[in-house]
Amino acid sequence: MAIVINAHFNWQNNRGKGSLKYLLQQREIVARFVKGDQSTSQKKAKGRAVAAKIPAEVCGLKVPRRTFCNNIAAREHEENQGLPNNVVHYDIAIVGGGMVGMALACSLASMPLTKQLNVAIIDSNPALEGKTCIKKEDPPDPRVSTVTPATISLFKDVGAWQYVQQHRHAYFDKMQVWDYTGLGYTRYNARDVDKEVLGCVVENKVLHSSLLSCIQNTDLKKRIYPSRLNSMTLHQNHLPTMMDSTSSSLHASLAKLELSDGNSLYAKLVVGADGAKSRVRELTGFKTTGWYYSQNAVICTVEHKTENQCAWQRFLPSGPIALLPVGDKFSNIVWTMNPKESSACREMNENDFVKALNHALNYGYGPHPQSNLLGNNGDIFSWFRRDLTVSANECFEVPPDVVKLVSGRMVFPLSLRHANNYASKRVVLIGDAAHTVHPLAGQGVNLGFGDAFALSRIISEGIAVGTDIGEVHLLKKFEAERKRENIMMMAILDGFQKAYSVDFGPLNVLRAAAFHGAQYISPLKRSIISYASGQI
Ligand SMILES: Cc1cc2nc3c(=O)[nH]c(=O)nc-3n(C[C@H](O)[C@H](O)[C@H](O)COP(=O)(O)OP(=O)(O)OC[C@H]3O[C@@H](n4cnc5c(N)ncnc54)[C@H](O)[C@@H]3O)c2cc1C
Repeated sequence: MAIVINAHFNWQNNRGKGSLKYLLQQREIVARFVKGDQSTSQKKAKGRAVAAKIPAEVCGLKVPRRTFCNNIAAREHEENQGLPNNVVHYDIAIVGGGMVGMALACSLASMPLTKQLNVAIIDSNPALEGKTCIKKEDPPDPRVSTVTPATISLFKDVGAWQYVQQHRHAYFDKMQVWDYTGLGYTRYNARDVDKEVLGCVVENKVLHSSLLSCIQNTDLKKRIYPSRLNSMTLHQNHLPTMMDSTSSSLHASLAKLELSDGNSLYAKLVVGADGAKSRVRELTGFKTTGWYYSQNAVICTVEHKTENQCAWQRFLPSGPIALLPVGDKFSNIVWTMNPKESSACREMNENDFVKALNHALNYGYGPHPQSNLLGNNGDIFSWFRRDLTVSANECFEVPPDVVKLVSGRMVFPLSLRHANNYASKRVVLIGDAAHTVHPLAGQGVNLGFGDAFALSRIISEGIAVGTDIGEVHLLKKFEAERKRENIMMMAILDGFQKAYSVDFGPLNVLRAAAFHGAQYISPLKRSIISYASGQI
């Protein structure tokens, strides 16, 4: 019964709004569901019933639909009218309006079936009030993200990238990774995989405000609650049947959220996008697996004499240091080290800190790697030479000197954490609420964006076949799809972190061999680039 109620409710909301192309696409999706995931003949019949309505919409026929389902929808509406001002119903409550929560809202707003949903966004971050003032003349904020080509294309699809382009951002097409021992280096070039860029470095506040601007220019029915989630009540029973459709049972079937400002609301689906210390995850009782690395990341913005157009990463005994272009003559530093060293780095005066940076990036710890250490152009890999990538012949380069520190230094403890489950009835986790990773490969928020876009697609597919969007079987589809991808990336990053945090002779040689392998073995290099770009 729950399935039929939602099919009608959402279909009614969408009447007359879809384009011909869209409706035909939805028909295909419905057909796929009917063929594939729907196991019982009853579900198939419901799927066909929804599909059958599509041609009617295409032809513009206005078929009166006075059904029980309409009555339920109407009653929900009436009940909202009768409720105290501070209690409201939503289709989706997004807890956490950070980059990932906003990406979900944006993606929901971009699709014909999901843009009809009523969405609450709960976050006390003042940036959600749209008051973030981003001035081009200010130096970049130290909190930046390297976004992958896959993320860029998702942002373009939902219409958010045009706002990013109005602010400072830095595409890069080259990357150099090397080891302090001087035994090896790898250079990557976007042309190795016939692309124009390897990624783009953007300030987090620019990504966030771009998503916000994008949502504000859509007709998504949303309300932002400048508050925090305090508690949540989840009932395991289903949406009410015809015989059991009183106001209280209707409420009992939904999730009830209580906010720190005293407001309460009901939602069919609660999305935990509330970061690494997720309250939604805690209240739902999802367990996590993970650990703290005994490492902190020191981040800041620095200036050079000339513009930096390459992403640099050097592996030091204490962990990697990255120098990322952020536009103009600025770069962002992400320097991993143990907590004692990070306190010292934060405390030292600016001149000493700049010297320490140049020491770490350039002349300290060990010699620069030689291009021909393993023979001319890595002769032990000569059997791959016929297929050399563009970057295989690129020599090691010294990164640009840092001349000035232009921001405060921020310190973040690093951890790996993964929720054992992302989904249960009426609740789903996305972004850092579901997984946090080491920032060494700049993948964290990219994985989160992947979650957000996948979830909105799966919600849309659910609506198309009339599934209650809080149903566990629908949300588990999302979990299965994203868990596979997230776990694979987490395992790779954790492996890297461990391999590069040991300073031991034989292992150093193996690492050097790995650098040379990645430099000269073209299929391996291409796979690494494609994977890191989010395109596998
Ligand atoms: C040093 C460093 C460098 C990084 N560099 C990169 C990079 O280059 N590329 C990359 O992809 N990733 C990078 N990351 C990871 C990236 O920053 C995170 O993955 C990303 O910020 C997660 O976004 P999120 O929206 O899931 O969570 P968050 O950014 O943590 O947002 C959570 C939101 O939820 C809100 N919230 C919390 N609790 C509640 C509550 N109870 N009620 C309501 N709202 C609540 C908060 O106010 C916040 O706005 C880096 C991380 C670090 C630490």
